[in-house]
Amino acid sequence: MQAKRSMGPSTKEHAIGAGRLGRPEHIDEIRQAIVKQHNETWRGKQLHGQFPNKVLDQANIDTELSFKWNKKQQISSNLESSIFAIQDNAVMTRQHQRDILKESVDGKCRLCACKDETVQHIISGCDILAGTHYVKRHNNLVQYVYWCLAKKHRIEVSSLWWKEKMIQPQVKENESTKILWEIARTHRHHCNTQQTGPNIYR
Ligand SMILES: [Zn+2]
Repeated sequence: MQAKRSMGPSTKEHAIGAGRLGRPEHIDEIRQAIVKQHNETWRGKQLHGQFPNKVLDQANIDTELSFKWNKKQQISSNLESSIFAIQDNAVMTRQHQRDILKESVDGKCRLCACKDETVQHIISGCDILAGTHYVKRHNNLVQYVYWCLAKKHRIEVSSLWWKEKMIQPQVKENESTKILWEIARTHRHHCNTQQTGPNIYR
Protein backbone atom coordinates (compact mmCIF):
# COMPACT_ATOMS: atom_id res chain seq x y z
CA MET A 1 0.00 0.00 0.00
CA GLN A 2 1.32 3.43 -0.88
CA ALA A 3 1.49 5.74 2.14
CA LYS A 4 0.52 9.40 1.92
CA ARG A 5 3.25 12.01 2.34
CA SER A 6 3.58 13.69 5.71
CA MET A 7 1.66 16.99 5.92
CA GLY A 8 3.77 18.41 8.79
CA PRO A 9 6.03 21.50 8.61
CA SER A 10 9.05 21.13 6.36
CA THR A 11 11.97 22.05 8.66
CA LYS A 12 15.55 20.83 8.74
CA GLU A 13 14.89 18.87 11.95
CA HIS A 14 11.81 17.41 10.39
CA ALA A 15 13.81 16.30 7.35
CA ILE A 16 16.41 14.61 9.59
CA GLY A 17 13.66 12.89 11.59
CA ALA A 18 11.93 11.84 8.40
CA GLY A 19 15.12 10.12 7.30
CA ARG A 20 15.20 7.97 10.41
CA LEU A 21 11.62 7.47 11.67
CA GLY A 22 9.43 9.18 9.11
CA ARG A 23 9.73 6.72 6.28
CA PRO A 24 6.37 6.20 4.59
CA GLU A 25 5.89 2.73 6.05
CA HIS A 26 6.52 4.08 9.57
CA ILE A 27 4.11 6.97 9.09
CA ASP A 28 1.48 4.53 7.93
CA GLU A 29 2.07 2.29 10.95
CA ILE A 30 1.83 5.26 13.33
CA ARG A 31 -1.38 6.42 11.69
CA GLN A 32 -2.92 2.95 11.94
CA ALA A 33 -1.85 2.65 15.59
CA ILE A 34 -3.50 6.00 16.43
CA VAL A 35 -6.75 4.98 14.69
CA LYS A 36 -6.67 1.60 16.50
CA GLN A 37 -6.16 3.29 19.85
CA HIS A 38 -9.02 5.76 19.25
CA ASN A 39 -11.26 2.90 18.15
CA GLU A 40 -10.50 0.85 21.27
CA THR A 41 -11.07 3.86 23.54
CA TRP A 42 -14.41 4.55 21.82
CA ARG A 43 -15.54 0.92 22.11
CA GLY A 44 -14.51 0.79 25.76
CA LYS A 45 -16.83 3.62 26.77
CA GLN A 46 -19.95 2.43 28.55
CA LEU A 47 -22.36 4.83 26.87
CA HIS A 48 -20.71 5.86 23.60
CA GLY A 49 -19.45 2.31 23.00
CA GLN A 50 -23.00 0.99 22.64
CA PHE A 51 -23.20 2.07 19.00
CA PRO A 52 -20.06 0.26 17.75
CA ASN A 53 -20.56 -2.77 19.99
CA LYS A 54 -24.30 -3.30 19.59
CA VAL A 55 -24.96 -1.87 16.12
CA LEU A 56 -21.84 -1.78 13.96
CA ASP A 57 -20.73 -5.26 14.96
CA GLN A 58 -24.01 -6.85 13.88
CA ALA A 59 -23.50 -9.31 11.04
CA ASN A 60 -26.11 -7.68 8.82
CA ILE A 61 -24.57 -4.17 8.96
CA ASP A 62 -22.55 -3.08 5.94
CA THR A 63 -20.26 -0.48 7.52
CA GLU A 64 -18.89 0.67 4.16
CA LEU A 65 -22.35 1.47 2.77
CA SER A 66 -23.62 2.77 6.11
CA PHE A 67 -21.05 5.57 6.16
CA LYS A 68 -21.04 6.39 2.48
CA TRP A 69 -23.15 9.48 3.20
CA ASN A 70 -20.34 10.83 5.36
CA LYS A 71 -17.65 10.41 2.72
CA LYS A 72 -19.66 12.38 0.17
CA GLN A 73 -19.41 15.45 2.42
CA GLN A 74 -22.72 16.88 1.32
CA ILE A 75 -23.74 18.08 4.76
CA SER A 76 -22.41 20.77 7.08
CA SER A 77 -19.92 19.94 9.83
CA ASN A 78 -22.54 20.98 12.43
CA LEU A 79 -25.07 18.51 11.09
CA GLU A 80 -22.43 15.80 10.83
CA SER A 81 -21.36 16.25 14.46
CA SER A 82 -25.01 16.19 15.58
CA ILE A 83 -25.60 12.90 13.76
CA PHE A 84 -22.57 11.29 15.38
CA ALA A 85 -23.55 12.65 18.80
CA ILE A 86 -26.99 11.02 18.40
CA GLN A 87 -25.39 7.75 17.27
CA ASP A 88 -23.14 7.80 20.34
CA ASN A 89 -26.02 8.63 22.71
CA ALA A 90 -24.14 11.81 23.57
CA VAL A 91 -27.31 13.86 23.92
CA MET A 92 -28.57 15.50 27.09
CA THR A 93 -31.86 13.68 27.43
CA ARG A 94 -33.96 13.68 30.59
CA GLN A 95 -33.16 10.01 31.14
CA HIS A 96 -29.44 10.82 30.92
CA GLN A 97 -29.86 13.63 33.45
CA ARG A 98 -31.76 11.36 35.86
CA ASP A 99 -29.74 8.13 35.57
CA ILE A 100 -26.21 9.22 34.67
CA LEU A 101 -25.91 12.71 36.10
CA LYS A 102 -28.14 11.83 39.10
CA GLU A 103 -30.08 15.07 38.79
CA SER A 104 -33.51 15.33 40.39
CA VAL A 105 -35.51 15.51 37.17
CA ASP A 106 -38.35 13.44 35.83
CA GLY A 107 -36.70 11.15 33.28
CA LYS A 108 -39.85 10.82 31.19
CA CYS A 109 -40.21 12.24 27.68
CA ARG A 110 -41.13 15.93 27.68
CA LEU A 111 -43.57 15.42 24.81
CA CYS A 112 -45.55 12.30 25.65
CA ALA A 113 -44.63 11.93 29.34
CA CYS A 114 -45.14 8.15 28.97
CA LYS A 115 -41.72 6.62 28.31
CA ASP A 116 -38.21 7.47 29.42
CA GLU A 117 -36.68 10.20 27.28
CA THR A 118 -33.83 8.28 25.66
CA VAL A 119 -32.23 8.94 22.29
CA GLN A 120 -33.94 5.84 20.88
CA HIS A 121 -37.32 7.02 22.16
CA ILE A 122 -36.94 10.45 20.56
CA ILE A 123 -35.78 9.02 17.24
CA SER A 124 -38.41 6.35 16.74
CA GLY A 125 -40.57 5.63 19.79
CA CYS A 126 -42.56 8.72 20.70
CA ASP A 127 -46.29 8.68 19.95
CA ILE A 128 -46.42 12.48 19.75
CA LEU A 129 -43.72 12.60 17.06
CA ALA A 130 -45.12 9.61 15.18
CA GLY A 131 -47.88 11.58 13.48
CA THR A 132 -45.71 14.56 12.55
CA HIS A 133 -41.93 14.37 12.35
CA TYR A 134 -41.70 10.64 11.70
CA VAL A 135 -44.19 10.98 8.82
CA LYS A 136 -42.23 13.92 7.41
CA ARG A 137 -39.00 11.93 7.67
CA HIS A 138 -40.60 8.97 5.92
CA ASN A 139 -42.00 11.21 3.17
CA ASN A 140 -38.64 12.90 2.64
CA LEU A 141 -36.96 9.55 2.26
CA VAL A 142 -39.55 8.33 -0.24
CA GLN A 143 -39.27 11.61 -2.14
CA TYR A 144 -35.51 11.09 -2.43
CA VAL A 145 -36.02 7.53 -3.69
CA TYR A 146 -38.58 8.86 -6.19
CA TRP A 147 -36.13 11.53 -7.38
CA CYS A 148 -33.29 8.97 -7.81
CA LEU A 149 -35.56 6.58 -9.71
CA ALA A 150 -36.87 9.36 -11.94
CA LYS A 151 -33.36 10.56 -12.79
CA LYS A 152 -32.17 7.02 -13.44
CA HIS A 153 -35.03 6.43 -15.88
CA ARG A 154 -34.71 9.84 -17.55
CA ILE A 155 -37.93 11.31 -16.22
CA GLU A 156 -37.59 15.07 -15.81
CA VAL A 157 -37.14 16.24 -12.20
CA SER A 158 -35.61 19.18 -10.33
CA SER A 159 -31.84 19.40 -10.03
CA LEU A 160 -32.16 18.96 -6.24
CA TRP A 161 -34.36 16.28 -4.70
CA TRP A 162 -35.88 18.49 -2.03
CA LYS A 163 -37.04 21.02 -4.62
CA GLU A 164 -39.10 18.45 -6.46
CA LYS A 165 -42.78 19.39 -6.32
CA MET A 166 -44.77 16.31 -5.40
CA ILE A 167 -48.45 16.31 -6.24
CA GLN A 168 -50.51 13.63 -4.60
CA PRO A 169 -51.57 11.38 -6.20
CA GLN A 170 -49.04 11.56 -8.98
CA VAL A 171 -48.07 9.42 -11.94
CA LYS A 172 -44.91 10.12 -13.93
CA GLU A 173 -44.02 8.02 -16.89
CA ASN A 174 -42.12 7.81 -20.12
CA GLU A 175 -41.85 5.12 -22.79
CA SER A 176 -40.06 2.66 -20.46
CA THR A 177 -41.00 3.53 -16.87
CA LYS A 178 -44.00 4.47 -14.78
CA ILE A 179 -43.62 5.79 -11.24
CA LEU A 180 -46.65 6.01 -8.99
CA TRP A 181 -46.60 8.31 -5.98
CA GLU A 182 -49.25 8.33 -3.26
CA ILE A 183 -51.52 5.97 -5.18
CA ALA A 184 -53.86 3.72 -3.23
CA ARG A 185 -52.88 0.18 -4.05
CA THR A 186 -54.61 -3.07 -3.21
CA HIS A 187 -52.58 -5.73 -1.47
CA ARG A 188 -54.14 -9.15 -2.02
CA HIS A 189 -52.19 -10.72 0.82
CA HIS A 190 -53.63 -8.15 3.20
CA CYS A 191 -57.26 -9.15 2.70
CA ASN A 192 -57.62 -6.68 -0.17
CA THR A 193 -57.10 -3.69 2.07
CA GLN A 194 -55.94 -0.52 0.43
CA GLN A 195 -52.71 1.07 1.47
CA THR A 196 -52.32 4.80 1.14
CA GLY A 197 -49.48 7.16 1.94
CA PRO A 198 -46.51 8.44 0.02
CA ASN A 199 -45.02 5.21 -1.21
CA ILE A 200 -43.55 4.53 -4.59
CA TYR A 201 -44.37 1.80 -7.08
CA ARG A 202 -42.56 1.34 -10.29
ZN1 LIG B 1 -42.29 10.68 23.91
